[in-house]
Amino acid sequence: MIYKKIILYKGKEESLKRFHPWVFSGAIARKDDVEDGDLVSLFTSGGDFIGNGHYEASSIAVRMLSFDESAIDEKFFGMRLKAAFEMRRAIGLMRDDNNSFRLVHGEGDFLPGLVIDVYGNTAVVQAHSPGMHFARKQIAQALTSELGDVVKNVYYKSETTLPYKAALDSTNEYLVGGYEGDVAVENGLKFHVDWLRGQKTGFFVDQRENRRLLEHYARGRNVLNMFCYTGGFSFYAMRGGAAEVCSVDSSAKAIALTEANVALNFADDARHKSVTEDAFKFLDVMEKDHYDLIVLDPPAFAKHKSALKNALVGYRRLNAKALMKIKSGGLLFTFSCSQAVNKEQFRLAVFSAAAQSGRKVKILHQLTQPADHPISIYHPEGEYLKGLVLYVE
Ligand code: SAH
Repeated sequence: MIYKKIILYKGKEESLKRFHPWVFSGAIARKDDVEDGDLVSLFTSGGDFIGNGHYEASSIAVRMLSFDESAIDEKFFGMRLKAAFEMRRAIGLMRDDNNSFRLVHGEGDFLPGLVIDVYGNTAVVQAHSPGMHFARKQIAQALTSELGDVVKNVYYKSETTLPYKAALDSTNEYLVGGYEGDVAVENGLKFHVDWLRGQKTGFFVDQRENRRLLEHYARGRNVLNMFCYTGGFSFYAMRGGAAEVCSVDSSAKAIALTEANVALNFADDARHKSVTEDAFKFLDVMEKDHYDLIVLDPPAFAKHKSALKNALVGYRRLNAKALMKIKSGGLLFTFSCSQAVNKEQFRLAVFSAAAQSGRKVKILHQLTQPADHPISIYHPEGEYLKGLVLYVE
């Protein structure tokens, strides 16, 4: 199928030949009368067809969906969703004790601009591009026809992720089914997912494996879970036999969610307490040498490259504070989810923090995003979650 045409400058097709999915606006020589969200067909300056994608009037002007002439319709979405689902099933994410996972991770699943998380019978769909917004009903339809025995409800939640939300009718709503309970299971632990009001799709499924590693180290430790959001790391720490767990977040709503989730798994367990406080302030006044397992999982400090320098200062300050106060023999789980900050830059920020604290620090683990957040080999930018587990003597 050929859509409205976009013709590139000479030589600008090179990265597309290697299946990189983005076309920058500067690469475009000529285009038909295209609008945000339109399906477009890409051609070289010599007139050769390259592939089809979604157009958006921004610096990433086209997100490629296919490199052949197949139509981008419900059947196309069905095929991609099926492939994504088969992969999650094959790697063992659908079990009696685990029904929450990321079904579609944008470029990593060859569906740029689309994120879908599954919580039990509900799929939460997030569009990051106008094209995916316009395709939402096809996507919802394809979800029920391909995954109908798993997905009964489809909730669309893109009010905060779409670029020009004013111009798009991006109301959050159920596209299929409705509310059917909000308790999901991750590695045998239960949690409420507030997809209606929560951040992102309601829960951070990307820390699943890292929470499990923390559980492994938690026995007998005093655990401090900074930036806890819905408390994921806290309830794994409790199952792992932590002596005490303190969850901290600056949002009272997040703390309420954490308390509800702890109660769901460990009702009336006196080991847990929570504090609504700014992380930097909390670390400043916190008693020294009390906690011997600290998690730092802040929100993305750099949402764009322009914020990189400040972000690195932020990571250094935060980590230095924790490294100065952690008990000898303690473990620090420290993360960055900023796509604009790469592994080396993050490690350098933590290195500076360690030097500033003067502590002896060893890297025990280098962590990343789990397998249901795959990285297309053609799109290394898809790697965003970085973590280090440090042992502090
Ligand atoms: N660790 C969480 C995810 C963290 S998301 C998990 O496993 O699910 C980041 C959280 O940081 C959000 O809940 C946000 O409310 C909180 N936050 C943002 N700025 C903060 C600050 N300055 N101090 C404390 N918490 C903050």
